[in-house]
Amino acid sequence: MALYTCLHAGDKIGVVQKVAPNVYFHQGNIDKGHCNQGWIIFREFVLVIDSNFPSGAAEVLPKIKATTKKPIKYVVDTHHHGDHAYGNQTWAEAGATAIASEGALQEMKKYETGFFGGHPLGRWEWAAKSRADVRNSKLLPPQITFRKKMVFDDGQMRAELLYLGNAHTHGDVFVWLPRERILFSGDACVNGPYNYMGDGNSLDWPKTLDAAKALRPKTICPGHGAMANGSLIDDQKAYFITLQKQVLPLVKRKASLEQLTGQAEAIRAKVLKNKKISRYVGNKFADQLKKIYGDFTGQTLGRLDVVKESEKNK
Ligand SMILES: [Zn+2]
Repeated sequence: MALYTCLHAGDKIGVVQKVAPNVYFHQGNIDKGHCNQGWIIFREFVLVIDSNFPSGAAEVLPKIKATTKKPIKYVVDTHHHGDHAYGNQTWAEAGATAIASEGALQEMKKYETGFFGGHPLGRWEWAAKSRADVRNSKLLPPQITFRKKMVFDDGQMRAELLYLGNAHTHGDVFVWLPRERILFSGDACVNGPYNYMGDGNSLDWPKTLDAAKALRPKTICPGHGAMANGSLIDDQKAYFITLQKQVLPLVKRKASLEQLTGQAEAIRAKVLKNKKISRYVGNKFADQLKKIYGDFTGQTLGRLDVVKESEKNK
């Protein structure tokens, strides 16, 4: 999947970046499906942010060990997606326990039917068809969950794991370092054309970004794309609000999904003119509009294929 081979401003793929003392950021290679990761070195242990796919985890594990001798004890899945959670088993073998929000575990139960019962082909099994790293590992759901907040504080380092509302999924975790004012945002805030909207709620998303903005972060370490300053949240929010403003008049006119799709190219051209948000426009643009349409009209609460199914049944 060479969807994103072009580099974007600030990209430092595969480079260990020291964000602050004891805080590191690593931008994953999206051509391998890898997410960004971070790690925080506490007095006694290391906490890793996002488990990545197994191959991404295997790549980052030695890079972490090169920065510290302390044991890697915890890995936080910012949400249930494979590129953020399927590496849990790899980290477990390295001694770490996976943590996520209750919402992320619920989403996993919903989609990982091969593991939790139901349809034998859950998302893991589908991913295993095309990815050897998934095929050669096994799904390990998070063993520790929290509802809204979980705090790690040893007097030297403090990390707050926060669930701030629906966004990219129904279980997104932000990792907030109040002393350094660094925010690891998972895919609730990305930097580039990486917004997958199928599993979340497009109307709640900007509100959740407002809650993140209220923390007043100085540095954002996003789930995909380059590290940025706090204004990244404004850009990400502006992108969704702009799309909503384009879709809403069509919803009010009771335009069909086909009519919306017919408008997609014109809307895309308009959004591309806005330099603040043009970098968010990718090849899933029409799907993003459809998802917003679906959320406005109450047709989607979950995945895009729900829209596609209802489209077929018309
Ligand atoms: Zn994701």
